[in-house]
Amino acid sequence: MIDSHCHIAGPEFAGDLADIIARARTANLAHALVILAADDGPEIEQGRRVAEQWDAVRFSVGVHPHAAGKFAANPGDAPEVVDSVIAAQPLTRGLGEIGLDYHYDFAPREVQQQVFREQIRLARRRRLPIVIHTREAEDDTFQILEEENAGEIGGVFHCFTGDRAMAQRALGLGFHISLAGIVTFRRALELKEVAKLVPLDRLLIETDSPYLAPAPHRGKRNEPANVVRVAETIAELRGSDAQAIGDAARRNFERLFNP
Ligand SMILES: [Zn+2]
Ligand SMILES: [Zn+2]
Repeated sequence: MIDSHCHIAGPEFAGDLADIIARARTANLAHALVILAADDGPEIEQGRRVAEQWDAVRFSVGVHPHAAGKFAANPGDAPEVVDSVIAAQPLTRGLGEIGLDYHYDFAPREVQQQVFREQIRLARRRRLPIVIHTREAEDDTFQILEEENAGEIGGVFHCFTGDRAMAQRALGLGFHISLAGIVTFRRALELKEVAKLVPLDRLLIETDSPYLAPAPHRGKRNEPANVVRVAETIAELRGSDAQAIGDAARRNFERLFNP
């Protein structure tokens, strides 16, 4: 079992990290990719404490599209900040989450695009796979990925919520698809179809904790141990078992992130 995307270096977990890690170990998690916001000093600091306590942890570092506005005056500063965090954290294995979020539009779209683009270039220089966050921005996301030849470094569409056509598009560029707790929600019918079609060698699973707790924990703080529920749901949909899904996700994680 693995958790390909969680935010346990965030303030929600500062008080009970040891308990969270103990439950993740009990759930047999072999790897967890912890996301660090490059512009968030306390998160980077807590990331070090997480890594001291749990050897399964690796990091992905980036400027989230929500934070892109901080670099509106000079989008070229974003990759510099990311690069310095990567240089200081030897357990970094990914660049992200990066991308476009037109649902919240917390930063102007042109700024989001430029900050996304600059970070893909950094990922190419650093030879790191990218962790993509995209919401209501499908066409612009693919245009930038194609223009920047992001398929050469590869990566993952994290917390995938698109339809089957978008999944095929992501797979066609060579990317992995990571499913989060949303796939457990009763009404997520299209996503359940996506869960059936992703080839087993391109599938990842995640919690995106503290967000998106799977059923029956919906609405509560999520944590890495809950990724088992995601694997169980995908297994039910595919007529497989949770262990097989977890094992496949682990192999994919190891090939992609070289933990
Ligand atoms: Zn995200
Ligand atoms: Zn995230």
